[in-house]
Amino acid sequence: MSFSGATPEGAPGDHPLLHGLDPAQREAVTTQGQPLCILAGAGSGKTRVLTRRIAYRAATGALLPSHVLALTFTRRAATELNRRLVTVGVRDQVAAGTFHATAWAQLRGLWADRDERAPTLLDQKVRVLHALLPRRGSGEVAPADVAGEIEWAKARMVGPDAYATAVVAAGRRPLLPAGVIASIYARYEDEKRRRRLVDFDDLVILCAEALETDAGFAAAQRWRFRHLFVDEFQDVNPAQHRLVEGWRGGRPDLCVVGDPDQAIYAWNGADPSYLTGFSARLEGATVVNLDSNYRSSPQILAVANAVLDTRRAPGALDLRPTLAAGAVPDVVAFPTDADEAAGVARALRRHHGAGRPWAEQAVLARTRAQLVIFEEALRAVGVPCRLRGAVSFLARPEVAEVVADLRRRPPGSPLAAAIADVRLAARAADPSGADASAGGDAEMADAEAVSDTVVETGATGAGPGAAAERQASLQELVRMMGEQLALDPRAPVAGFLTWLTAALRGDNPDGSGDAVTLSTFHAAKGLEWPVVFLTGLEQGLVPVGRATTPEARAEERRLLYVALTRAQRELHCSWAERRRFGAHTMARSASPWLATVEAVVDSLAGSASTAAAGPDWREHLDRSRAHVRGLTDGPRSRGDSARTRGGSGTRTRAAGCVEVGERADPAMLAALRSWRAGAARAAGVPAFVVLHDATLAVVAEARPGDRHALLALPGVGPVKAERYGEALLAVVANAGAA
Ligand code: ATP
Ligand code: MG
Repeated sequence: MSFSGATPEGAPGDHPLLHGLDPAQREAVTTQGQPLCILAGAGSGKTRVLTRRIAYRAATGALLPSHVLALTFTRRAATELNRRLVTVGVRDQVAAGTFHATAWAQLRGLWADRDERAPTLLDQKVRVLHALLPRRGSGEVAPADVAGEIEWAKARMVGPDAYATAVVAAGRRPLLPAGVIASIYARYEDEKRRRRLVDFDDLVILCAEALETDAGFAAAQRWRFRHLFVDEFQDVNPAQHRLVEGWRGGRPDLCVVGDPDQAIYAWNGADPSYLTGFSARLEGATVVNLDSNYRSSPQILAVANAVLDTRRAPGALDLRPTLAAGAVPDVVAFPTDADEAAGVARALRRHHGAGRPWAEQAVLARTRAQLVIFEEALRAVGVPCRLRGAVSFLARPEVAEVVADLRRRPPGSPLAAAIADVRLAARAADPSGADASAGGDAEMADAEAVSDTVVETGATGAGPGAAAERQASLQELVRMMGEQLALDPRAPVAGFLTWLTAALRGDNPDGSGDAVTLSTFHAAKGLEWPVVFLTGLEQGLVPVGRATTPEARAEERRLLYVALTRAQRELHCSWAERRRFGAHTMARSASPWLATVEAVVDSLAGSASTAAAGPDWREHLDRSRAHVRGLTDGPRSRGDSARTRGGSGTRTRAAGCVEVGERADPAMLAALRSWRAGAARAAGVPAFVVLHDATLAVVAEARPGDRHALLALPGVGPVKAERYGEALLAVVANAGAA
């Protein structure tokens, strides 16, 4: 095994395909070492290197592109890979696709060769599970939850017989006794066999089994695809890994790229140790690390690294920024989710007016349901947008069903009566049996991520929380109906339907043309946009409510890191103080990680205003890191073993704090300091997390009289204003009067 970051001696000279690559990237493209693992952080050029390597090896005769198989996990990532293969001139010959699509294609070939009728692809497990579940009654479990359990098991290659043991070993608590689920699982498999059905998980496992047991099939596939490339390898699960091994057939010609800090599918069985343990597992493996970031401005990187900092995954690397300084990211708190959508829509228009194509901007959110309100708001003001990785809202079966029902009503029938029915339907879709409008949104996040990954071959699926997803869709519909009724209490159903189709017109995930992208965090992986709006950064969404274990929270944190690192030039973070879930409006609080974002933003804003010319951004990055380390060295994370990464004992809490202003009234400053000490104690964080010394000095000097004046001060973001504004204003008023 060799670790290398420099061009080796005698490396090929000035090939055009090596232009625009740094030495480590050149090494990754040109190395003869195989198997090859390229391990690097976000935006370091992993996908660029992967496509260049294919093209370079083709150009230098090391491979025939028609023998290349390039794999990714989502259809969207496959599209991106194909787009990049076009730019290096090998698109037409290279096979690039998802695991599921590739397995399905190969299996169809296999069945045709054997003169077997191909089984039918089961788009939703619940279609079969419905009939197998105990009769509905109290304590019953929705088919979608059982489907989730089966998917959990299949990703780990656990069959019905081994299910109960595996559940205990994993400390998992399914909604039904493990034995009951195991027996439903067994009957589900029987039923599929009887009806000649296969589900999505089967595709991966069946293809792997065929490679292991059918020598002719294996030889044909291995002959055709003798050069294997896998992007985003940190997200491979045991079943997919087995398939890769089946395709590889013991040969060394495998190149994987990935980033353990972006592992966001562990809940779905993905195991990043296939990536981090690559060189230990495969004899003679070469590992290349890339160490520079080419995507994001140093300011965006500073924020992203800070969010990740203390919880870095094993094997992770620090990234050097290479781009010129850009704008300091911002954090905005909106009074409501509707205000947030309207505010973002205005900002998108402003950017567009300034000459940015719509397509250079993206709005990202943790859950898909959050995106619907943006879709409406954007269309209302004429901003073209595209929902990525989402089945069109109107095409979702549960929505289509209700809309069809509404259409059957007499045209003049009142919307007010119809909304009650839809509310009932939403309640009936509730997986827990209660009206869990607040939790539903969080619950559905996993289902969305599953359908982002797995169901990309064309259908909608059932994943853990799929029932919650259906419920959230219906709640969205209730919300839109309610809005119409608020405008016109006597609105007829027909009018609402006309409005609905117009409002969501062109809601087509495959639509092309210049449009703003709306995407979940999961679906945005691997992609990038010059301007990114990260929305709904609230407790319960980021991290998602169901993430209660340290592992799940760590994954949510990485997910936020993935989202932050999509931005190239501008990053706008926002959240809403009140958010509607179906018929309910809930008070919200900021994501706990926004404090970290604000700490970095504060320090960036401070130095941006003080630096006269050409600030040294590397130094700056270190400074802001030191800031945040000060934060995480506090009582909250003491004793946390994950904190050891790079730990040299040199972190100091006060590092990076700006000198106290000269003109501040010492008495006022003392009062503020004493207040801050109390606030920090109460929150269990170091004082600087509450407010920087520099900010205290500014407050003491400016003596703000109201929230508005407070917000105008550098270093006081909306999160801080919300959290401490009132107390701070009181201290200023009291000390001023004294
Ligand atoms: P992710 O982890 O998010 O998938 P990645 O490591 O795959 O990111 P890429 O998407 O390949 O990174 O690259 C990020 C951006 O930087 C792309 O726009 C790419 O074209 C650009 N880039 C990569 N390397 C260089 C380079 N040496 N010079 C200029 N631009 C580069
Ligand atoms: Mg990539």
